[in-house]
Amino acid sequence: MTRQDDQNKILFTTKRPDIVMSKGVGMQLWDETGKQYLDFIAGWAVNTLGHCPKVLVDCITKQAQTLINASPALYNDQHLNFASALAKVSGFDKALFCSTGAEANESAIKCARKWASLHKKGAYKIITMQHGFHGRTLATMSATGKDIFKPMFEPKVPGFIHVPFNDIQAVKDATAPDVCAVMLELIQGEGGVNCAEPDYVTELAAWCKENKILLIIDEVQTCFGRTGRLFAYEHYTFKPDIITCGKGIGSGYPLAAMLTTAEYDIFEPGEQGGTYTGQPLGMAVGHCVLREITKGGFLDHVQEMGDYLQAQLTARSEKGIQNVRGKGLLIGCDLPGKDAPKIAAACMDQGLLLNACGPETLRFIPALIAQKDDIDNALSILDRCID
Ligand SMILES: *Cc1c(COP(=O)(O)O)cnc(C)c1O
Repeated sequence: MTRQDDQNKILFTTKRPDIVMSKGVGMQLWDETGKQYLDFIAGWAVNTLGHCPKVLVDCITKQAQTLINASPALYNDQHLNFASALAKVSGFDKALFCSTGAEANESAIKCARKWASLHKKGAYKIITMQHGFHGRTLATMSATGKDIFKPMFEPKVPGFIHVPFNDIQAVKDATAPDVCAVMLELIQGEGGVNCAEPDYVTELAAWCKENKILLIIDEVQTCFGRTGRLFAYEHYTFKPDIITCGKGIGSGYPLAAMLTTAEYDIFEPGEQGGTYTGQPLGMAVGHCVLREITKGGFLDHVQEMGDYLQAQLTARSEKGIQNVRGKGLLIGCDLPGKDAPKIAAACMDQGLLLNACGPETLRFIPALIAQKDDIDNALSILDRCID
C-alpha cells in the first residue's frame, strides 16, 4: 500500500520509511497492511507503559468525559493532584507543566536567567555539553551541542558555551562571572547513550555550588523510570537545582515539566506559561503514569530487564557488538565498522523497530513493560540482521 499523495501533504522535516502505523498493543505496533512490529523505539523513549495500556486508556476516557480543558488561568483538580503527587515522590517542591521537552528546557533556561537577574548581576551564560541534545526551539537548538546544528538558523540565541562532556576542567575553564547555569543530560540520549561519570557529576555539583551556578539536569529522556529509577539523578549523589521532564512522563501523551525547589519559584505573572499548562487531560495522564511506575516492583523490573539486555548484548562480542552501556532501559552499543542505520532498516523489514543513533551505534529504548521474551525476540532478529 502506498500513500505517496497523502505523504506529500505533510511538510517535509524528516525522512520516514514507506510504512504507515495504525495500531499498537503493548510492545507491538501494526502498520496499515497488517504487518506487525516488535517496538524497541517506543515512540522515541516515550511510551513508558507500552502501546494503549488499559489503565491509560481508561484514565483518558474518564477524564475526557469529565473535563478536557479548563483554562491556564484557573486551577483545575487534576493539575493540583498531579503537582502534589509529584512533589511527594520527586524531592522537588514545585512543578511547571508544558507539552514538550524543548518547552520544559526553555522554562529552565528562563528560570536560570531570571534567578541570575535577581541574584547574580544579570549573568546569562549557560554551559552545555558537546553531543548533548535539548530540543528544537531556537534557544534549545542553541543550547544543543550538535555540530550539525551550528550553522543553522543564525543568529541563534546567544549565551551558550559548549564544552566536552565528562570533562570537569573544561567546565572550570569556561566558568566566568557571567555564567548562571550548567545544563546537561546525565545520559546523553541522542548523542549516543553516553553516561556521565559519577566522579565528574560529584565534582560538577560541588563546583556549581562554590561558584553560584545553577545545575540544570535535562531528564527529558531519562525521567519517569527510563533508567530504572524515577529520575536518572538518583543514580548519583547530588541534587540538581532544576530538572526537566518530557517523553516518558506522558507515556505517549504530549506532556513535559520543569521541577524545582521553592527557592527558584521566581517567575512574575506573564514571564512564563502557555495555553496548555496544567490542562486536565494531560495532568490526569501524568498522574496515572506516575502511579503505575511507582507501584512496588515496577522500577526493579526496568533495572532487571536492562541488566538482562546489557548482558545479552555484551555476550555478542563475536557479532561485533562492543561498548554496551546505559542504565535501565536506555541502552546503547557500538558496531565498529558496521552500518548501524542499515542494520536498523533490515530489522524493520524483519519486524523489529530499533534506533540507530549514530553511524555505528544502536540504541534500545523499549517500553518499560518489556519482558525477557521481548528482549530475546528482538535479539534474535538483530542477530539475523547483523549477519
Ligand atoms: C527529546 C529530548 C528533548 C526535546 O523534547 P521534545 O519533546 O522533542 O521537545 C530535549 N532533551 C532531551 C534530552 C531529549 O531527549
